[in-house]
Amino acid sequence: MYNCVIGRYHEIATKGNNRIMFERTLLDNIRHQLRNLEGVRAGRVRGRIWIDRADGNAFTDCERAAIADGLKRVCGLCSYSFCARIPAKLEDIEKGAVRLAKMLLDPEEDGVTFRIRARRSDKRFPLRSHDLEIDLVTKIAEEPDMRSFSIDLDNAKITLGVEIRDEFAVLYTDSVKCIGGLPTGSNPRVLSLLSGGIDSPVASFLMMKRGAPCDYVSFHSAPYTPPETTEKVRRIARHLNRFQMSGTLHLVNLAEFQKLVRDNCEERFRTILYRRAMMRISEIIARRTGCRALATGEALGQVASQTLINLDVINRSVDMLILRPIIGEDKLDTIATAEKIGTMELSAPQVPDSCTVFAPTSPATAAPLVQVERQESLIPGYSAVLEKIASEMESLPTDEI
Ligand code: ATP
Ligand code: MG
Repeated sequence: MYNCVIGRYHEIATKGNNRIMFERTLLDNIRHQLRNLEGVRAGRVRGRIWIDRADGNAFTDCERAAIADGLKRVCGLCSYSFCARIPAKLEDIEKGAVRLAKMLLDPEEDGVTFRIRARRSDKRFPLRSHDLEIDLVTKIAEEPDMRSFSIDLDNAKITLGVEIRDEFAVLYTDSVKCIGGLPTGSNPRVLSLLSGGIDSPVASFLMMKRGAPCDYVSFHSAPYTPPETTEKVRRIARHLNRFQMSGTLHLVNLAEFQKLVRDNCEERFRTILYRRAMMRISEIIARRTGCRALATGEALGQVASQTLINLDVINRSVDMLILRPIIGEDKLDTIATAEKIGTMELSAPQVPDSCTVFAPTSPATAAPLVQVERQESLIPGYSAVLEKIASEMESLPTDEI
C-alpha cells in the first residue's frame, strides 16, 4: 500500500528567493542516492519532496530498503515517511484512513492508544485540520469490525498522519529522522585535510552537512610511511563520498619537505613546520581546483599543534578561509558522530601518520611566529619545494579512489 515517500526539510524552508536553488540541490542528491533504482523517481511540491514509482505501483520490499538506505545519506533532508498517496478528496481520505487503521490496529490487542495528526497545506480543502481529525476518527470508530481503541493526543502508540497538499493527499504512520542541515552542493566546494584519524572524517561530513561538498587532500611520507597509510585514507574518502555526489582525493608526499626540516631546522618546531607546509600545499591545490576554503579536524587544545597559539601560527601560513567544524567539540561527541556516520571503524586501525615521521620528542606548544618564520627561512628554496610537491600529487577522482 506504500506507493510514495514524502520527504521534509527544515532549514531550507526558512530561505527566501533562493529557496528553489536549495530544493533543486536537495532533489539532485536524492536522485543520486536512488540512481540504481529503475522506475523510481523523485520530484517536489511546494515544501515537500516526493518519491514514487513511475508506474504508480507500491514499492517492493527491496525498493523500500534501498530507498531507506539512500535517504540516510542525504544532507538537507530532515525526515521522511513511506506513505499511501491518494487523491486530495475527503471521500478518498476517509476510505484510505479506515483501511490503514484496520491494518495498524492489532486484532489481538484491544484498547490501543491512537491518534490522527492532520495537516492541510491546501487551504481550499473543505475541512480544517482539526475538523478532519475528528471526522476521520469518527469514521474509523464507526467501522463494524474495527478493534476498540482509545484516543491519546500526547502519547499514542499509533499515530496516523494525514497531509493534504494541492496536488494529492498522503497517509502515513512513521517518520524517520534524517541528517538535516543543508543539501550538499548548496555551498561552494571545500578542500578537506583528511588524515586517517577520527576527527577529520567527521569534520568533512559536517562540511557536507552545511552544504559544502568536499575534495580531500591527504599527506603521506612514503617510503617512511607504509602503503597502508594511504589505503586507509582511501577507504575513508570512499565512504565519505557516499554522502555526496563526488569528491576527489589528492594524495601528497611530504617526505622531501620533512627531510629538509629534519636537516635544517630546530627539532621542537618540526610538527608546526609540517602543519604550515600542509596548509600552504593545500591552499595551492584548493586554488588550482576551485575549492573556496580549507577544512580540518582540529579541536582546540587536543594536542601540541592545536593549542590556541599554535593554531594561530598555523592559520597565518595561508591567505584562505580555514574551517574547523569540530573546534569546540568534546572528543566523545566526535567519536559518537564518527560511529553514526560509519567512519569510526575505518579510523580505528592504527597506521603510521605523516606527522609522526621524524616527530620531535618534545614539540613546542607555543611557537612564536617570528621564530617559526625564521626556521622556514633556513630551508633552501622553501616555496619552490612546496610548489613542486603540490605539482607531483596523485589525484583520484570519485570512482578511482
Ligand atoms: P585526526 O583524528 O583527524 O587525525 P587528530 O586529532 O589526530 O585529527 P592531528 O593529527 O593533530 O589531530 O591533525 C589535526 C588536523 O590536521 C586533522 O584533523 C586533519 O585535518 C589535518 N591533518 C593531520 N594530518 C594530516 C595528514 N596526514 N593529511 C591530511 N591532513 C592531516
Ligand atoms: Mg591525526
